[in-house]
Amino acid sequence: MNVFEYQARSLLARYGMPIPAGDVATTPEEARQVAVVLTDGPFVVKSQILAGGRGKGRFLNGFVGGVRLCSDANQVEEVARAMLGGVLVTRQTGPEGRRVDRVLVAKAPRILRELYLAILIDRECRCPVVMGSARGGVDIEEVAREDPEAIHRIRVDPQMGLWPYQARELGLRMGLRGPLLLQAADAIARLYHFFCDCDASLAEINPLAVVEDGKLAVIDAKVSFDENGLFRHPEIARYRTEVIEDGREAEATKAGLNYVGLSGDIGCMVNGAGLAMATMDILHRYGGTPANFLDVGGGADQDQVTKGFGILMKDPRVRAIFVHIFGGILRCDVIARGIVDAVSQVMPKVPIVVRLQGTNLEEGRAILRRSGMSIRTADDLADAAQMAVAAAKEPR
Ligand code: GDP
Ligand code: MN
Repeated sequence: MNVFEYQARSLLARYGMPIPAGDVATTPEEARQVAVVLTDGPFVVKSQILAGGRGKGRFLNGFVGGVRLCSDANQVEEVARAMLGGVLVTRQTGPEGRRVDRVLVAKAPRILRELYLAILIDRECRCPVVMGSARGGVDIEEVAREDPEAIHRIRVDPQMGLWPYQARELGLRMGLRGPLLLQAADAIARLYHFFCDCDASLAEINPLAVVEDGKLAVIDAKVSFDENGLFRHPEIARYRTEVIEDGREAEATKAGLNYVGLSGDIGCMVNGAGLAMATMDILHRYGGTPANFLDVGGGADQDQVTKGFGILMKDPRVRAIFVHIFGGILRCDVIARGIVDAVSQVMPKVPIVVRLQGTNLEEGRAILRRSGMSIRTADDLADAAQMAVAAAKEPR
């Protein structure tokens, strides 16, 4: 689960990370008030969306920059008015962009150098890895591509934790010396502490900046949490309700469905996570792209199938629906009845391809056939997947 920058900042501040003072605002007047309380400028006004690249972003109405420096409270209000309610497009949002409903207003220190610092779980070496670079800032992706050596990595043994010498070594490789090196080692240790304590899966500070007065400052923070650990952190879990990441996902969570929104055009309804993954793989193999991952559960009942159809149908991306269900715990005839009922309730306007397998397959097929609905069926997985891919390409 991703959280907004202003939320990440308040969590990191509790761990003693050097965060410039600031606060979130939802109206231009509130933004001005935050600036007034911070007293003198310069300030920075930052669009709060769950995507990066804001600095180089542009609003659909032409306003340039999702992150803007301002010299006084008047200008903060003006910039906040331009951002709030606008749609910001960055290289991470896709062309449709994201609506900006809140802005962060913070003190903007003068930046001398921009560094990069991140902790994530490296699945390959099965441990947390701390990454640091002297070349942080908005072009970090290019640095990673063109000069990967410039990004240094330190593996942490989760049993032993991060040793102080490891933090100092990384600080050195980030080009820091003297008091700045000690500050960096301290910040790295604090970030690691936060990362473990809060069950984070990613904590990225880009840039971590060397600012005036020889201090370090967290200028931008991106944090995600392992959802399986959220029950241990009610305070962080509360952010979830505030974070409307994907309307589709919010609704599916309410219905108790296991759903991940994707950007393709084939709406998938599958039972069991393994089968769902295999279904997405085979759609890709035949040149299709799934609009979602939806696992209605091994013991899916009719209610869940109906809710699943509802979510798929509300998604304007979906040009075909592929129902792929294995009748194990639930028999195929029960599932087929569920599908027929769901279709008659929801009345999808796009082609539906169904592949059933398992117990009482024959009865299930007969029910689909007798329904008189235009439900396309296939026995073989490859055939079914190709039908779904073709169906999504049909003109509507
Ligand atoms: P991102 O583009 O979404 O990663 O947003 P960032 O918060 O990283 O801001 C992008 C860039 O704007 C940074 O790399 C800085 O160069 C600049 N910037 C952001 N905040 C400040 C600030 O407080 N002071 C100064 N001087 N520059 C800032
Ligand atoms: Mn950044």
